[in-house]
Amino acid sequence: MPLELVTLRCRTDNYAYLLHGEEGTVLIDAPEAAPILRELSARDWTLSAILLTHHHADHTDGVAEIVRETGAMVIGAAADAHRLPPLDLRITPGEPLEVLGEPIEIIDVPGHTIGHVAFHFPQSGVVFTADSLMALGCGRLFEGTAQMMWDSLSRLNALPADTLICSGHDYCAGNGAFALSVDPGNQALRERLAAVQEARQPCAPATLALERATNPFLRVAALRASLGMENAPDAEVFARLRSMKDAF
Ligand code: ZN
Ligand code: FE
Repeated sequence: MPLELVTLRCRTDNYAYLLHGEEGTVLIDAPEAAPILRELSARDWTLSAILLTHHHADHTDGVAEIVRETGAMVIGAAADAHRLPPLDLRITPGEPLEVLGEPIEIIDVPGHTIGHVAFHFPQSGVVFTADSLMALGCGRLFEGTAQMMWDSLSRLNALPADTLICSGHDYCAGNGAFALSVDPGNQALRERLAAVQEARQPCAPATLALERATNPFLRVAALRASLGMENAPDAEVFARLRSMKDAF
């Protein structure tokens, strides 16, 4: 049976996610404690673990209080153990891990930070990408190179098309405006933005198929000609798009 997914808005534009099944409940990222603790108690769910994607404060600030209140264990990348909250389990991309009875895949997705990981639950068809692949966008390159982020996005893009992409922020308005500026003829993009506006809903989470059709950072092949980069390597086209977005 697939796990139940709950999307929680935190801080100004962060997302945290709860996954719940017969074996318990886990949290992916802890931007702040209050809304997460409230949701757990409203649902009468007992938290067993917190999975951390990367070290930024807007993804980890709630850890200490949530651990104090729930006793949940904290799981994060061994490579970033020195700058993550205290970890009970240090994980390494590619290593096998079972969460809530489901064998999951830990994917290395550096670029936004070095040490950023994504958690893929293949049986439930969901991946937690935080600030790597995002709805209609991708994270800024604070620590890694464009080549690193391009490789990370390519790894995520290799997942099944119906995988739900759960990213770390609601940046839909800004990402959507940028996407439209570089990809104005994209009908799927226009339809997605119109649907988001009509429903007054965030545009995340969305399937990988929809991101492939509408996210400019996954549309390098379709956009290269309009950028005059027909013969450039994919990572260079991606780098150009990323720096255009930074200046947008
Ligand atoms: Zn971040
Ligand atoms: Fe973030």
